Amino acid sequence: MSIMTVSSFSRSADDVEAIYLLFGDGARVLVGRAILRTNERAQVTRIATVKPHPISVPLNAPVWTAHEQLTSSSVIVVEVRTDDGLTGYGQIHGSPMKAICAWVERFGEIVRGMDALAHVAVWDRLFSLTCPRPGGIAGADGLPPPLPRGERPQIMAAIGGIDIALWDIKGKHAGLPVWRVLGGEPRPIPTYATGGYYRPGAPDKVYAEELAGFVQAGYRAVKLKTGAGSPADEARRVRTVREAIGRDISLMLDMNAPYDVEGCIEFARRVEPLDIYWLEEPLHWYLQPADFVRLAAATSIPLAHGERELTRFTVRDFIATGAIRYVQFDSTRAAGFTEGLRVAALAEQHAVMIAPHTAPELHAHLVAALPRCGFGVESHGDAARNPLSHHLLVGGPETRDSFVHLNDKPGFGVEIDWDYAKRYAA
Ligand SMILES: [Mg+2]
Repeated sequence: MSIMTVSSFSRSADDVEAIYLLFGDGARVLVGRAILRTNERAQVTRIATVKPHPISVPLNAPVWTAHEQLTSSSVIVVEVRTDDGLTGYGQIHGSPMKAICAWVERFGEIVRGMDALAHVAVWDRLFSLTCPRPGGIAGADGLPPPLPRGERPQIMAAIGGIDIALWDIKGKHAGLPVWRVLGGEPRPIPTYATGGYYRPGAPDKVYAEELAGFVQAGYRAVKLKTGAGSPADEARRVRTVREAIGRDISLMLDMNAPYDVEGCIEFARRVEPLDIYWLEEPLHWYLQPADFVRLAAATSIPLAHGERELTRFTVRDFIATGAIRYVQFDSTRAAGFTEGLRVAALAEQHAVMIAPHTAPELHAHLVAALPRCGFGVESHGDAARNPLSHHLLVGGPETRDSFVHLNDKPGFGVEIDWDYAKRYAA
């Protein structure tokens, strides 16, 4: 005969532990219950399950950035359920999707039972696993050993997706949209349309017509993919686009890291007369804040950067050194909404504007909450380029006249079209 205890909990009661007597034949008899925590403890909404849903929609025609070919539009929807019936959804944009999903599932086991409203505690527990800790290699604390360095992008993506789902839950638990949980007002959030993805062999006027089409659809700011050609060829292409959209429209250039400092200074000089709003990711991937500072000193065009950074710690020096004027940290690629807030708080102190990369239905909540440093969010004007934002995510904010109009629905106010999700399950 032995003694077994079984813990249980609910929102309406304290945590309790049932005490059973176990007999050799497998029978058990309940002999009592012990209250484990005091009545002062607040009601707790606990994480019950975490599930990734990878979704990938083939593009009608593959396109290129300066760096890579895009053949599909993909997202991992992270579904977090709580023990009291709430469901929150996060988003992850990253690859390989299979590896990220494996981390989401593994992390789901680690955070199961944690307070779903304690987003900082959940974030810290998962992030702490990326570093050595006392006893870590022996697994004495029941947690995995320090996580592999080579998988940091996938690990940070998985943390981000879970974190975003917890913010959705937080809003639904409060019955409030996230922008309101954060103390923001429902002001329209400016947005621009990104386009001009390369179709090899296409003449410049193809891109000019595409971006002029965004303007005709109501956008007051547009962003052109650049960087795949020589500075001279790219400057000619940018000029063709500027002439097509007119002088009243803001024109950003998204470069995907094509140049070293000297090459980018040459390019910047060529496009300065075209009234460029920002140069985004202008420098090679390995160049550092000090290199951006050199570039910034050599051109009148503001610099934007941040979508490829994994944490606030690497973003910090881009902001604090004055290297960039717009920070584009993407919580769906890494580290989540919690990290996006931390980046935004630092940006505000340095008069750097936040312009989060993609996921406008999520990031508009962040921008709404930080009006002093909230520039706006990125949209894809073309449904063919980003079918997910037009078909998978439904009921979210309306994009009209170059603004995102947030709604009053709890959480992020976005639902998933599960028929569409199942059709394109990856
Ligand atoms: Mg970009």
